Amino acid sequence: MNAIERAVSCLDGYDPDALRVDTAGAAIRACLVPMAETEKLPLRAALGRVLAQEVVPQIDVPGHDNSAMDGYAVRFSDLKKDETTLKQTGTALAGKPFGAPVGPGECVRIMTGAVMPRGADTVVVQEVCRADNGRIAVPPGQKAGQNVRAAGEDLKAGVAVLHPGQPVRAAELGLIASIGIAEVSVKRRLRVAFFSTGDELASIGAPLKQGDVYDSNRYTLHGMLQRLGVDIIDMGVVRDDPALLEAAFTRAAASADAIITTGGVSVGEADFVKQLMAKLGEVLFWKIAMRPGRPMAFGRIGKAFLFGLPGNPVAVMVTFHQFVRDALLHLSGRTGDYAIPLLKAPAAMPIRKVPGRTEYQRGVLFREGGEWRVRTTGQQGSGVLRSMSEADCLIVLEHERGKVEAGELVQVQLFEGLNS
Ligand code: AMP
Ligand code: MG
Repeated sequence: MNAIERAVSCLDGYDPDALRVDTAGAAIRACLVPMAETEKLPLRAALGRVLAQEVVPQIDVPGHDNSAMDGYAVRFSDLKKDETTLKQTGTALAGKPFGAPVGPGECVRIMTGAVMPRGADTVVVQEVCRADNGRIAVPPGQKAGQNVRAAGEDLKAGVAVLHPGQPVRAAELGLIASIGIAEVSVKRRLRVAFFSTGDELASIGAPLKQGDVYDSNRYTLHGMLQRLGVDIIDMGVVRDDPALLEAAFTRAAASADAIITTGGVSVGEADFVKQLMAKLGEVLFWKIAMRPGRPMAFGRIGKAFLFGLPGNPVAVMVTFHQFVRDALLHLSGRTGDYAIPLLKAPAAMPIRKVPGRTEYQRGVLFREGGEWRVRTTGQQGSGVLRSMSEADCLIVLEHERGKVEAGELVQVQLFEGLNS
């Protein structure tokens, strides 16, 4: 038993010949070692990275109580049960505070974002006031403290607002900028090498011999990896030749944190990949109880984690979404829950399914009389990549589930809105 096998053999329900999807995911998690290397980057360059530091504001945001509306800053205690007339003593603009205090019976014209003048505690919007020669009539019914943004209501000095493991998205860039921080410490980007295996694979631009297919997996992988913000090392197509495959694995393991291959993990005669993986590293060969995607290898060569995906184009995408995405985000140092949400929708038609494996059917969500429903894209062969293109979701049919009747609720996993 190798180290990886030992790490996962203690998991509940572990059965190397019919591994359930959730057990396989947990087994992978149990082996991974998240990125420890960090680097300091200018703020903009940190977009898409994983934070390696706590972000603690040194200032309150906003720095002062200020107005949320254009109107008049007043002392609430001045306002009567009926209309109150106040004397306007000045104007406060954003960036141009009114220096003097507001005394009893006085008010100050104030614009959104302007600092509240001393003495005033409430803003009355300009639309409800009547101005007449420096005298401002304020109607009854105002609430104490209304339309005032309190100092520190967004961020408080000394209170950490972001934590290691969080992704830096547009909102975080802005948040960090709002406290005046110009550089942040982030995790090093994960390096992911991938290659396709198969004697039948032609690269775009080369002529197709009889029986050949163009290598599409490298392109879907490129697209999926790009969204995860990793550094991509595309190693091309490697023939089903042990010497070439060994050289490719060795080269990949020397430069990458993770290696993804497609093809060569089923039981075909020319499938050298799995033997080689076992020779060069520590590998679990899995028959995962799922469809598509049954044969998939996970392991390690040197320091690099290895994902040996099936060759069929749909199986590549499904296993990537179910396992590789989660693993790469974990390796990148992400914390928190970034699982792709599972929603529920009624099936628009019966769906065939046998208990004992998790199935991922390509689905399309549509509206019927204002109600969302999901249908399959039809042909579900794992070589029919068109089904992924036509689909906007995967219909996830659980391990124990049998056939689905029309109208039954099924789980769906949306493609759009995936932010990583
Ligand atoms: P394999 O897992 O190597 O037995 O491949 C399973 C099926 O997927 C075969 O029909 C292959 O031709 C096809 N396939 C493997 N790799 C690719 C690829 N990179 N692009 C398109 N089809 C592929
Ligand atoms: Mg092959």
